[in-house]
Amino acid sequence: MSLLPVRSPVPEHPYHRLDGRIMLQVKNAEDAPLADVSPLDSGIVFCGGKAAEDLRALTSGHGFSGPVLIDPAAYERHAATPERPFIVGQASLFNDDELEEELDRLLEQKSLMALTPTGYLRAGDTRSLSAAVHRVTGLNRSDVLLTVPIDSGWLTGNAFPELVSLLRRTPVPKAVVLGASWDPLDRVGAAERLRELFASVPGCGLLRTDLAAIDAMVHGADFAAIGDSPSARHTRPPRPEGGGPRARSSPAVLIPRMLTYRRGEEFATVLAEADPPRCPCGFCASWMRRRGLRDDGRPLTSFTTELEKADAHAHNLAVWSALWSWVQDVDSRAQGLSRWKRLCDRAVQEHRSLNEVARSPGGGFEVPQALKAWAGPV
Ligand SMILES: [Zn+2]
Repeated sequence: MSLLPVRSPVPEHPYHRLDGRIMLQVKNAEDAPLADVSPLDSGIVFCGGKAAEDLRALTSGHGFSGPVLIDPAAYERHAATPERPFIVGQASLFNDDELEEELDRLLEQKSLMALTPTGYLRAGDTRSLSAAVHRVTGLNRSDVLLTVPIDSGWLTGNAFPELVSLLRRTPVPKAVVLGASWDPLDRVGAAERLRELFASVPGCGLLRTDLAAIDAMVHGADFAAIGDSPSARHTRPPRPEGGGPRARSSPAVLIPRMLTYRRGEEFATVLAEADPPRCPCGFCASWMRRRGLRDDGRPLTSFTTELEKADAHAHNLAVWSALWSWVQDVDSRAQGLSRWKRLCDRAVQEHRSLNEVARSPGGGFEVPQALKAWAGPV
Protein backbone atom coordinates (compact mmCIF):
# COMPACT_ATOMS: atom_id res chain seq x y z
CA MET A 1 0.00 0.00 0.00
CA SER A 2 1.03 3.57 -0.45
CA LEU A 3 2.64 5.06 2.61
CA LEU A 4 1.07 8.42 2.05
CA PRO A 5 -2.50 9.50 2.48
CA VAL A 6 -4.26 10.91 -0.52
CA ARG A 7 -4.42 14.59 0.23
CA SER A 8 -6.18 15.88 -2.86
CA PRO A 9 -9.80 16.53 -2.13
CA VAL A 10 -10.84 15.73 -5.71
CA PRO A 11 -9.49 12.40 -7.05
CA GLU A 12 -9.37 13.52 -10.68
CA HIS A 13 -7.30 16.57 -9.85
CA PRO A 14 -3.98 16.33 -11.78
CA TYR A 15 -2.07 16.68 -8.49
CA HIS A 16 -3.53 13.34 -7.45
CA ARG A 17 -1.46 11.63 -10.16
CA LEU A 18 1.77 12.69 -8.42
CA ASP A 19 0.78 11.28 -5.04
CA GLY A 20 3.30 8.85 -3.53
CA ARG A 21 5.61 8.97 -6.56
CA ILE A 22 9.33 9.53 -6.74
CA MET A 23 10.08 10.59 -10.32
CA LEU A 24 13.26 10.85 -12.37
CA GLN A 25 14.42 14.44 -12.99
CA VAL A 26 16.35 14.84 -16.22
CA LYS A 27 18.41 17.71 -17.55
CA ASN A 28 20.10 15.95 -20.47
CA ALA A 29 17.84 13.30 -21.96
CA GLU A 30 20.79 11.84 -23.90
CA ASP A 31 22.15 9.71 -21.03
CA ALA A 32 18.87 9.29 -19.15
CA PRO A 33 17.30 5.84 -18.65
CA LEU A 34 13.86 7.07 -19.73
CA ALA A 35 12.73 3.66 -20.96
CA ASP A 36 13.31 2.20 -17.47
CA VAL A 37 11.01 4.63 -15.64
CA SER A 38 7.84 2.93 -14.45
CA PRO A 39 4.75 4.79 -15.66
CA LEU A 40 2.77 3.10 -12.89
CA ASP A 41 4.85 4.11 -9.86
CA SER A 42 7.08 6.90 -11.08
CA GLY A 43 7.22 9.70 -13.66
CA ILE A 44 9.61 12.14 -15.32
CA VAL A 45 10.47 15.81 -14.73
CA PHE A 46 12.33 17.50 -17.58
CA CYS A 47 14.28 20.62 -16.67
CA GLY A 48 16.78 21.26 -19.45
CA GLY A 49 16.69 23.77 -22.27
CA LYS A 50 15.11 21.09 -24.47
CA ALA A 51 12.49 20.06 -21.92
CA ALA A 52 9.47 20.58 -24.20
CA GLU A 53 11.17 18.74 -27.07
CA ASP A 54 12.21 15.87 -24.78
CA LEU A 55 8.68 15.55 -23.45
CA ARG A 56 7.28 15.44 -26.97
CA ALA A 57 9.76 12.73 -28.03
CA LEU A 58 8.98 10.69 -24.93
CA THR A 59 5.21 10.75 -25.19
CA SER A 60 4.99 10.33 -28.95
CA GLY A 61 7.95 8.01 -29.63
CA HIS A 62 7.93 5.77 -26.57
CA GLY A 63 4.30 6.33 -25.62
CA PHE A 64 5.12 6.96 -21.95
CA SER A 65 1.86 7.05 -20.00
CA GLY A 66 3.08 8.12 -16.53
CA PRO A 67 3.03 11.71 -15.22
CA VAL A 68 5.48 14.10 -16.88
CA LEU A 69 6.30 17.63 -15.73
CA ILE A 70 8.31 20.45 -17.22
CA ASP A 71 10.31 22.46 -14.68
CA PRO A 72 11.07 25.77 -16.45
CA ALA A 73 13.98 26.20 -13.97
CA ALA A 74 13.92 30.01 -14.18
CA TYR A 75 15.73 29.93 -10.81
CA GLU A 76 18.89 28.72 -12.57
CA ARG A 77 19.39 32.09 -14.25
CA HIS A 78 17.60 34.73 -12.15
CA ALA A 79 16.99 35.59 -8.52
CA ALA A 80 13.46 36.52 -7.44
CA THR A 81 12.70 40.05 -6.26
CA PRO A 82 9.54 41.34 -4.53
CA GLU A 83 8.63 43.17 -7.75
CA ARG A 84 9.47 40.22 -10.00
CA PRO A 85 9.10 36.89 -8.20
CA PHE A 86 8.42 35.07 -11.50
CA ILE A 87 10.67 35.30 -14.51
CA VAL A 88 8.49 35.72 -17.56
CA GLY A 89 8.81 37.34 -20.96
CA GLN A 90 6.72 40.05 -22.54
CA ALA A 91 2.96 39.61 -22.68
CA SER A 92 1.78 38.77 -26.16
CA LEU A 93 -0.72 40.55 -28.34
CA PHE A 94 -3.45 38.16 -27.22
CA ASN A 95 -2.87 37.97 -23.48
CA ASP A 96 -1.83 40.74 -21.14
CA ASP A 97 -0.91 38.45 -18.24
CA GLU A 98 2.53 37.09 -19.03
CA LEU A 99 2.57 34.66 -16.06
CA GLU A 100 -0.69 33.03 -17.11
CA GLU A 101 0.58 32.86 -20.65
CA GLU A 102 3.75 31.07 -19.54
CA LEU A 103 1.74 28.61 -17.43
CA ASP A 104 -0.65 27.92 -20.32
CA ARG A 105 2.33 27.29 -22.58
CA LEU A 106 3.65 24.60 -20.21
CA LEU A 107 0.27 22.88 -20.19
CA GLU A 108 0.08 23.04 -23.99
CA GLN A 109 3.48 21.36 -24.03
CA LYS A 110 1.75 18.56 -22.07
CA SER A 111 3.26 19.12 -18.65
CA LEU A 112 0.78 17.46 -16.25
CA MET A 113 0.72 20.65 -14.17
CA ALA A 114 2.26 24.08 -14.77
CA LEU A 115 5.29 24.71 -12.55
CA THR A 116 5.74 28.43 -11.95
CA PRO A 117 8.91 30.09 -13.32
CA THR A 118 9.90 31.29 -9.84
CA GLY A 119 13.24 33.10 -9.49
CA TYR A 120 15.86 31.83 -7.01
CA LEU A 121 14.81 32.71 -3.47
CA ARG A 122 17.85 33.96 -1.61
CA ALA A 123 18.12 32.95 2.06
CA GLY A 124 15.65 34.90 4.19
CA ASP A 125 14.08 36.83 1.28
CA THR A 126 10.57 36.57 2.71
CA ARG A 127 9.34 39.55 0.66
CA SER A 128 9.97 37.80 -2.66
CA LEU A 129 8.52 34.53 -1.39
CA SER A 130 5.48 36.35 -0.09
CA ALA A 131 5.03 38.12 -3.44
CA ALA A 132 5.19 34.78 -5.28
CA VAL A 133 2.66 33.21 -2.91
CA HIS A 134 0.22 36.11 -3.27
CA ARG A 135 0.44 36.21 -7.01
CA VAL A 136 -0.03 32.49 -7.54
CA THR A 137 -2.87 32.25 -5.02
CA GLY A 138 -4.62 35.10 -6.81
CA LEU A 139 -4.64 33.16 -10.08
CA ASN A 140 -7.19 30.81 -8.55
CA ARG A 141 -6.16 27.93 -10.82
CA SER A 142 -6.10 24.22 -10.02
CA ASP A 143 -3.48 23.25 -12.61
CA VAL A 144 -0.52 25.13 -11.13
CA LEU A 145 2.36 24.00 -8.90
CA LEU A 146 4.19 26.80 -7.13
CA THR A 147 7.93 26.19 -7.54
CA VAL A 148 9.77 27.19 -4.34
CA PRO A 149 13.49 27.30 -5.21
CA ILE A 150 15.09 28.10 -1.87
CA ASP A 151 18.72 28.67 -1.03
CA SER A 152 19.74 26.12 1.62
CA GLY A 153 20.44 29.07 3.97
CA TRP A 154 16.66 29.23 4.52
CA LEU A 155 16.81 25.88 6.29
CA THR A 156 19.46 26.83 8.80
CA GLY A 157 18.70 30.56 9.13
CA ASN A 158 16.37 32.61 11.31
CA ALA A 159 13.70 32.95 8.60
CA PHE A 160 12.88 29.21 8.61
CA PRO A 161 9.70 29.61 10.74
CA GLU A 162 8.44 32.25 8.31
CA LEU A 163 9.13 29.95 5.37
CA VAL A 164 7.06 27.18 6.98
CA SER A 165 4.30 29.55 8.01
CA LEU A 166 4.02 31.15 4.55
CA LEU A 167 3.96 27.79 2.76
CA ARG A 168 1.45 26.35 5.23
CA ARG A 169 -0.93 29.17 4.39
CA THR A 170 -0.55 28.71 0.61
CA PRO A 171 -3.56 26.83 -0.76
CA VAL A 172 -1.70 25.92 -3.98
CA PRO A 173 0.42 22.72 -4.28
CA LYS A 174 4.11 23.46 -3.89
CA ALA A 175 7.35 21.98 -5.29
CA VAL A 176 10.48 22.79 -3.28
CA VAL A 177 13.89 22.88 -5.01
CA LEU A 178 17.04 23.28 -2.90
CA GLY A 179 19.92 25.49 -3.96
CA ALA A 180 23.54 25.81 -2.84
CA SER A 181 26.95 25.97 -4.43
CA TRP A 182 27.66 22.48 -3.04
CA ASP A 183 25.43 19.91 -1.35
CA PRO A 184 22.44 21.90 0.06
CA LEU A 185 22.12 19.48 3.00
CA ASP A 186 25.78 19.64 3.94
CA ARG A 187 25.26 22.17 6.74
CA VAL A 188 24.59 20.89 10.25
CA GLY A 189 20.84 20.95 10.92
CA ALA A 190 19.71 21.42 7.28
CA ALA A 191 18.39 17.85 6.80
CA GLU A 192 16.47 18.01 10.08
CA ARG A 193 14.85 21.30 9.07
CA LEU A 194 13.88 19.91 5.66
CA ARG A 195 12.11 17.08 7.47
CA GLU A 196 10.31 19.59 9.66
CA LEU A 197 9.19 21.49 6.57
CA PHE A 198 7.58 18.44 4.97
CA ALA A 199 6.02 17.36 8.26
CA SER A 200 4.45 20.82 8.68
CA VAL A 201 3.42 21.88 5.15
CA PRO A 202 0.60 20.01 3.42
CA GLY A 203 0.45 19.74 -0.39
CA CYS A 204 4.17 19.85 -0.95
CA GLY A 205 6.84 17.88 -2.85
CA LEU A 206 10.61 18.00 -3.32
CA LEU A 207 12.08 18.18 -6.81
CA ARG A 208 15.61 17.99 -8.21
CA THR A 209 17.13 16.13 -5.29
CA ASP A 210 18.99 12.96 -4.29
CA LEU A 211 18.00 10.38 -1.65
CA ALA A 212 16.65 13.31 0.38
CA ALA A 213 13.56 12.44 -1.71
CA ILE A 214 12.97 9.29 0.35
CA ASP A 215 13.50 11.09 3.66
CA ALA A 216 11.06 13.81 2.54
CA MET A 217 8.46 11.24 1.46
CA VAL A 218 8.52 9.35 4.76
CA HIS A 219 8.12 12.66 6.57
CA GLY A 220 5.09 13.91 4.68
CA ALA A 221 6.06 15.04 1.16
CA ASP A 222 3.44 14.07 -1.44
CA PHE A 223 5.87 13.55 -4.33
CA ALA A 224 9.54 13.97 -5.20
CA ALA A 225 12.02 13.72 -8.07
CA ILE A 226 15.60 12.42 -8.00
CA GLY A 227 18.01 13.84 -10.58
CA ASP A 228 19.73 11.46 -12.98
CA SER A 229 22.92 13.57 -13.03
CA PRO A 230 24.58 15.75 -10.35
CA SER A 231 23.32 18.98 -11.98
CA ALA A 232 19.74 17.69 -11.71
CA ARG A 233 20.10 16.85 -7.99
CA HIS A 234 20.10 20.44 -6.76
CA THR A 235 20.37 23.95 -8.17
CA ARG A 236 22.98 26.66 -7.59
CA PRO A 237 22.70 30.36 -6.90
CA PRO A 238 21.97 31.93 -10.31
CA ARG A 239 24.70 33.04 -12.64
CA PRO A 240 23.36 35.12 -15.55
CA GLU A 241 26.07 33.91 -17.90
CA GLY A 242 25.02 30.28 -17.28
CA GLY A 243 27.31 27.35 -16.56
CA GLY A 244 30.53 26.65 -18.40
CA PRO A 245 31.08 23.65 -20.64
CA ARG A 246 30.41 20.34 -19.00
CA ALA A 247 33.51 18.76 -17.53
CA ARG A 248 34.16 15.24 -18.75
CA SER A 249 34.49 12.99 -15.77
CA SER A 250 33.52 9.61 -14.47
CA PRO A 251 29.83 9.33 -13.59
CA ALA A 252 28.36 9.64 -10.09
CA VAL A 253 27.32 6.17 -8.95
CA LEU A 254 24.79 5.50 -6.21
CA ILE A 255 26.44 3.01 -3.85
CA PRO A 256 23.42 1.08 -2.53
CA ARG A 257 24.71 0.16 0.92
CA MET A 258 26.24 3.59 1.54
CA LEU A 259 23.14 5.48 0.31
CA THR A 260 25.44 8.05 -1.27
CA TYR A 261 26.69 8.94 -4.73
CA ARG A 262 30.41 8.58 -5.44
CA ARG A 263 32.40 9.43 -8.53
CA GLY A 264 33.05 6.08 -10.20
CA GLU A 265 36.76 6.65 -10.67
CA GLU A 266 37.34 7.91 -7.13
CA PHE A 267 35.42 4.92 -5.72
CA ALA A 268 37.47 2.46 -7.79
CA THR A 269 40.75 4.11 -6.78
CA VAL A 270 40.00 4.10 -3.07
CA LEU A 271 38.98 0.42 -3.20
CA ALA A 272 41.67 -0.68 -5.67
CA GLU A 273 43.09 -3.26 -3.27
CA ALA A 274 39.82 -4.48 -1.83
CA ASP A 275 37.30 -7.05 -3.00
CA PRO A 276 34.89 -4.67 -4.79
CA PRO A 277 31.33 -4.36 -3.53
CA ARG A 278 28.87 -5.64 -6.12
CA CYS A 279 25.41 -4.51 -7.16
CA PRO A 280 22.62 -7.01 -7.85
CA CYS A 281 20.09 -4.39 -9.06
CA GLY A 282 18.00 -5.30 -12.11
CA PHE A 283 20.20 -3.32 -14.47
CA CYS A 284 23.52 -4.66 -13.14
CA ALA A 285 22.27 -8.26 -13.04
CA SER A 286 21.32 -8.11 -16.72
CA TRP A 287 24.66 -6.41 -17.52
CA MET A 288 26.44 -9.44 -16.03
CA ARG A 289 24.20 -11.93 -17.84
CA ARG A 290 24.75 -10.19 -21.19
CA ARG A 291 28.48 -10.76 -20.72
CA GLY A 292 28.07 -14.38 -19.69
CA LEU A 293 29.47 -13.60 -16.23
CA ARG A 294 28.47 -15.14 -12.93
CA ASP A 295 25.32 -13.41 -11.77
CA ASP A 296 26.66 -12.22 -8.42
CA GLY A 297 26.29 -8.54 -9.22
CA ARG A 298 28.29 -6.00 -11.17
CA PRO A 299 31.39 -4.63 -9.41
CA LEU A 300 30.63 -1.08 -8.29
CA THR A 301 34.20 -0.19 -9.24
CA SER A 302 33.39 -0.66 -12.95
CA PHE A 303 31.85 2.78 -13.66
CA THR A 304 35.11 4.64 -14.15
CA THR A 305 34.80 6.61 -17.38
CA GLU A 306 32.42 8.90 -19.24
CA LEU A 307 31.51 5.85 -21.37
CA GLU A 308 29.76 4.28 -18.39
CA LYS A 309 27.59 7.35 -17.74
CA ALA A 310 24.38 5.90 -19.23
CA ASP A 311 25.01 2.62 -17.36
CA ALA A 312 25.53 4.52 -14.10
CA HIS A 313 22.28 6.44 -14.59
CA ALA A 314 20.35 3.23 -15.29
CA HIS A 315 21.90 1.57 -12.22
CA ASN A 316 21.14 4.61 -10.04
CA LEU A 317 17.48 4.59 -11.10
CA ALA A 318 17.17 0.85 -10.48
CA VAL A 319 18.69 1.23 -7.00
CA TRP A 320 16.60 4.12 -5.71
CA SER A 321 13.42 2.68 -7.26
CA ALA A 322 14.04 -0.55 -5.35
CA LEU A 323 14.81 1.39 -2.17
CA TRP A 324 11.60 3.41 -2.38
CA SER A 325 9.60 0.35 -3.25
CA TRP A 326 10.92 -1.41 -0.10
CA VAL A 327 10.43 1.57 2.19
CA GLN A 328 6.85 2.23 1.14
CA ASP A 329 5.68 -1.38 1.00
CA VAL A 330 4.35 -1.25 4.57
CA ASP A 331 1.09 -1.01 6.49
CA SER A 332 1.83 2.22 8.33
CA ARG A 333 3.92 5.33 8.09
CA ALA A 334 5.76 4.35 11.30
CA GLN A 335 6.92 1.10 9.67
CA GLY A 336 8.15 2.97 6.60
CA LEU A 337 10.08 5.39 8.78
CA SER A 338 11.63 2.59 10.72
CA ARG A 339 12.71 0.75 7.53
CA TRP A 340 14.29 3.92 6.17
CA LYS A 341 16.09 4.68 9.44
CA ARG A 342 17.45 1.12 9.57
CA LEU A 343 18.79 1.44 6.02
CA CYS A 344 20.47 4.76 6.93
CA ASP A 345 21.96 3.26 10.09
CA ARG A 346 23.48 0.44 8.07
CA ALA A 347 24.76 2.94 5.50
CA VAL A 348 26.70 4.78 8.22
CA GLN A 349 28.22 1.44 9.29
CA GLU A 350 29.01 0.59 5.67
CA HIS A 351 31.10 3.77 5.42
CA ARG A 352 33.16 2.51 8.38
CA SER A 353 33.50 -1.02 6.93
CA LEU A 354 34.67 0.25 3.55
CA ASN A 355 37.10 2.65 5.20
CA GLU A 356 38.74 -0.35 6.88
CA VAL A 357 39.59 -1.88 3.51
CA ALA A 358 40.20 1.41 1.68
CA ARG A 359 43.58 2.21 0.28
CA SER A 360 43.97 5.66 1.85
CA PRO A 361 45.07 5.67 5.48
CA GLY A 362 42.35 6.93 7.78
CA GLY A 363 39.72 5.93 5.22
CA GLY A 364 38.45 7.71 2.14
CA PHE A 365 34.73 7.95 2.81
CA GLU A 366 33.26 10.57 5.07
CA VAL A 367 29.67 10.09 6.22
CA PRO A 368 27.58 12.90 4.67
CA GLN A 369 25.91 15.28 7.11
CA ALA A 370 22.42 14.45 5.78
CA LEU A 371 22.93 10.70 6.17
CA LYS A 372 23.96 11.22 9.81
CA ALA A 373 20.69 13.11 10.35
CA TRP A 374 18.57 10.45 8.60
CA ALA A 375 20.17 7.70 10.67
CA GLY A 376 19.71 9.66 13.91
CA PRO A 377 16.68 9.54 16.20
CA VAL A 378 13.41 10.06 14.34
ZN1 LIG B 1 23.25 -1.73 -10.01
